[in-house]
Amino acid sequence: MSQSLWQSVLGEIEVSVSHATFMTWFKNTELLENTNDSVTIAVPNIFAQRQFEVKFNDQIKSILEKNGVTPSSINYIVKTNQKRQSTSRETTRSAPITSAADRLVAPIKTKVITNGLNPRYTFKNFIVGSSNDLAYSACQAVAKNPGSKYNPLFLYGGVGLGKTHLIQAVGNEITTRDPDTTVLYISSETFVNDFLESIRFKKKGFADKYRNVDVLIVDDMQFIAGKEKTQEEFFHTFNALHQTNKQIIISSDKPPRNIPTLTERLRSRFEWGMSIDIQMPDFETRCAILEAKAAASSAEIDRATVEYLANSIKTNIRELEGALNQLLAYSEMRGVPADIAMAEGLIGNVRRTRPQHLTSKQIIDRTAKHFQLTSAEICSAKRDKHIVTPRQIAMYLLRSELHLSFPKIAQELGRKDHTTAIHSVEKIEKAVKLDVLIREQVAELREKLYV
Ligand code: ADP
Ligand code: MG
Repeated sequence: MSQSLWQSVLGEIEVSVSHATFMTWFKNTELLENTNDSVTIAVPNIFAQRQFEVKFNDQIKSILEKNGVTPSSINYIVKTNQKRQSTSRETTRSAPITSAADRLVAPIKTKVITNGLNPRYTFKNFIVGSSNDLAYSACQAVAKNPGSKYNPLFLYGGVGLGKTHLIQAVGNEITTRDPDTTVLYISSETFVNDFLESIRFKKKGFADKYRNVDVLIVDDMQFIAGKEKTQEEFFHTFNALHQTNKQIIISSDKPPRNIPTLTERLRSRFEWGMSIDIQMPDFETRCAILEAKAAASSAEIDRATVEYLANSIKTNIRELEGALNQLLAYSEMRGVPADIAMAEGLIGNVRRTRPQHLTSKQIIDRTAKHFQLTSAEICSAKRDKHIVTPRQIAMYLLRSELHLSFPKIAQELGRKDHTTAIHSVEKIEKAVKLDVLIREQVAELREKLYV
């Protein structure tokens, strides 16, 4: 299957390049097609496309050959708006996709880490600040004495704040110290799927798999919401483990009381032990994280640039890490040290002082012109894609350049409802960070506004 073939290629590449390189270039890639003659790989942007063509092609070719695939050509095509991290090796293991082309290639077994732990997540490389020190201490306490204190340990907080990192660190610490302790890390989705499969195919051993462990770590518990039968099964698993003093560690995006449709008895079980939230680290901690990550990939980055990044990205650590990796990779590619200007270019967050003469009308007119549309089309209700994105960009620029309120932005575009304006601005804000094409369009357009 193409998934496992590509996972296998990624697996080899991951050990041969730096972590930053891997995360930057290979994270959002996907094998789209594999015919006998050609292999097509989707990459997230044109930077990446170029990198693959000039830098990684030979390596990929030879790994494919080792796996019995000998295409006469490998094509790299840009596919934007992919689900982020969709090919991260931790997340796709359970999502095979088969196409006719896939079946031409015999499945290749990748090394399966049976306990689900990724050795990359350790306590040592977790930076502690006031937003996460409680969670960190609780995790350390549990790692020292599993099953005795804080059972279950329930960690909750928004995406990309380090929940997975911490709960995996517990597992890694325990298995390193005592290899005989059985640890199992799963996402609650895996539990759900496993359970459904055991029913559908009348498979035996489901219960044992989860009950014969010393430490059960379940990530992203919120996915169990609304799945009553699975919740019931988990309830029994929980009881079996808890009664024999086995440790249970759970993460979720919200506290037990806020997970919708969680059965009352499971909710109360979750609240038996310790629930701790984890928040976005403050500026100082964000800087420390960036410095630690740069040091870990032996890259040099000056304090000013670190502060610039820490100041620009306040959403979550994953984004912060992503921006740093992009910056380091870009600097490596260009052969010049990373600096604020480069970071600004990449983040597309150049804060200029607003010249007096720029008006809403000019922004709309110039955006329309840039995309070869008329201002009337931008302000119309048409939903064609080639108009919608420029319209959203116009709204984004009204916000970023003129700091207009959302109702005002809506009004300028001839709309009554300002929620569309909020949505559009947020969408482009995000796209500017993630999508190199949008970033370039916006940067180019900004230049035009100020000439
Ligand atoms: P969550 O599970 O909460 O969505 P993750 O644990 O996946 O978040 O964290 C996202 C990324 O940020 C990971 O690569 C993780 O290693 C990193 N990270 C998060 N918090 C920290 C921290 N305090 N120190 C170092 N790295 C961190
Ligand atoms: Mg997570």
